[in-house]
Amino acid sequence: MGLIKHSEKLRTFAGIATVASLFLVFDVAFSAMAPARLAFPLDERAPGEFPDGWIHGSKSAMDNDDPAVQVHAYNEHTYILRENKAINYEGAFMYLFFGNDVAMLIDQGSTSSPALFPLREVVDEIIAGWEERNGQENIELIVANSHLHGDHFAAWNQFVDRPNTVMVGLTHEEVMAFWGIDNYPQQIVNFNLGGRELVVTGTPGHEGSELAIYDGWTDLLYTGDMFYRGRLYIEDWEAWAASIQKLRTIADQNPVVHLVNNHIEMTTTPGVDYPVGTTWQPNEPPMQMTLEMLDQAVEASFEIEEPGIYTYDDFLIINQVPWSYTSDL
Ligand SMILES: [Zn+2]
Repeated sequence: MGLIKHSEKLRTFAGIATVASLFLVFDVAFSAMAPARLAFPLDERAPGEFPDGWIHGSKSAMDNDDPAVQVHAYNEHTYILRENKAINYEGAFMYLFFGNDVAMLIDQGSTSSPALFPLREVVDEIIAGWEERNGQENIELIVANSHLHGDHFAAWNQFVDRPNTVMVGLTHEEVMAFWGIDNYPQQIVNFNLGGRELVVTGTPGHEGSELAIYDGWTDLLYTGDMFYRGRLYIEDWEAWAASIQKLRTIADQNPVVHLVNNHIEMTTTPGVDYPVGTTWQPNEPPMQMTLEMLDQAVEASFEIEEPGIYTYDDFLIINQVPWSYTSDL
């Protein structure tokens, strides 16, 4: 994988620089040709912004004139994408993180057809624009997933023939091999996107291969489908409880600023969600969540003992309840 090559190259350059200033002339010549390395310092938080509102479907899908994929630059190296709810009611969020020479797309939405949902085209455009602004060429794209549910990898196939692309894969074994996790879910690994450090760990409970990702540059903690403003479908309660407590530990050890995730299903009325399948959500709360909300979930993880539906202001815990019983009909 290019990443390993890349970090070796980095180390080699660092070695050259420290060992012999003889090479200074070479260094100067080299840096005149190559794009400047982007810095992603961990000690100062990279600012970023969420939109005032996301595209949220429409009363009639036929009259929807929003883009198939909303592209929002959280900051210049961090993109958040949302699938149009008129195409699929899941309204799934996807993330694109840039490091030096490497971009990572996390999740690929709920629609496979490139005609309906041209995710590959949109991602290619973002990458082309980013390369131009940053004087880079041919950065590698890693196509990764938060977890292995079909509403988050439907457009995965659009990338399989893309040049200069690493497909992480859609089996538990491929995912863990890519991230270097051999003790799932306990292990916490650092993953380098070329100067941009991610902390990655297993957070099963909603699904048995799910990962949470903390980005040390923006201080965003990505919690996928295991924690978001909506119906938290839990198939394995013990695992989910341990995962949510682990997210709290990660937030204790790192200066997390927002929790970001995959869906919005709540309304702005506390404790009230939109019914399953809703394609128009005019009263959505923000997607990002707070540490106080995480604390509530942690508390719930110690209190809940039985399967059932538990309502909180900002999320519903749907503990081991068959999906068909959870619609609001
Ligand atoms: Zn899921």
